[in-house]
Amino acid sequence: MCRHLARIGGPIAAGDVTARGAHSLARQAHAPRFMRGTGTLNVDGYGVAWGGGDGWRSYRRAMPPWADPSGETVLGAITAPAVMAVVRGATTGMPLSESACAPFISDGWAFSHNGYATGWPGSLEPLAAEIPLADLMTLEASVDSAVLWAWLRHRLRSDEDPAALLPELVARVAEAAPGSRMNLLLSDGTHILATAWGHSLAWWRDGGEIVVASEPTDDAPGWQWLPDGHLLIARPDRVETIAIPSTASPPP
Ligand code: GLN
Repeated sequence: MCRHLARIGGPIAAGDVTARGAHSLARQAHAPRFMRGTGTLNVDGYGVAWGGGDGWRSYRRAMPPWADPSGETVLGAITAPAVMAVVRGATTGMPLSESACAPFISDGWAFSHNGYATGWPGSLEPLAAEIPLADLMTLEASVDSAVLWAWLRHRLRSDEDPAALLPELVARVAEAAPGSRMNLLLSDGTHILATAWGHSLAWWRDGGEIVVASEPTDDAPGWQWLPDGHLLIARPDRVETIAIPSTASPPP
């Protein structure tokens, strides 16, 4: 199971976002406190995307952050107002590669998925049938998260509302593939959308900064949990939560 995090505020070093806090994202790679589902470690890869205004760039590696001293140097030298970062614990049977590691970036969006679709790949066939062939042929990796991202990106290209698309995607996968865990994270650099469906999700907001993370990165007061089965729409100045309509329920 992965842990992921998105943050918007004043410009910050991209590397700080993974390193910051007593329970930093880098620490959550080997000592997460709130993991559910299968797996206990998130050491199969990590990725950091940074952006704001002119789109996103990313740095991804198929190893944990502490095994990549060059990453620390590079990411410490990059500052941006918006950062998304992920530590990956690959789902059994899914590839161990840089390209399978979120964040996936394109079209001004950064995306991550913490969880898995049960019955993969057959259970995602109905969704895949709605993705243009050109997008399927250029899928970044044979991983459930990349299919979810290709579907979402296709619909975002039609200018659909991301706050409606994320609940639709979660509900469709949850209903077609019961027991799936679907914590999604999406940002355009000005706002962060996140779902909690079978995994923990918390947020913290203060003085022009919003952090949305699988679990709190420190013990500071002010962290709030997003209830399971909900969508969060967050900006530095405003946070909204909405129940995801579905006939399915998130797995315990
Ligand atoms: N299923 C995805 C993968 O294998 C996400 C993994 C996760 O949340 N651990 O990359």
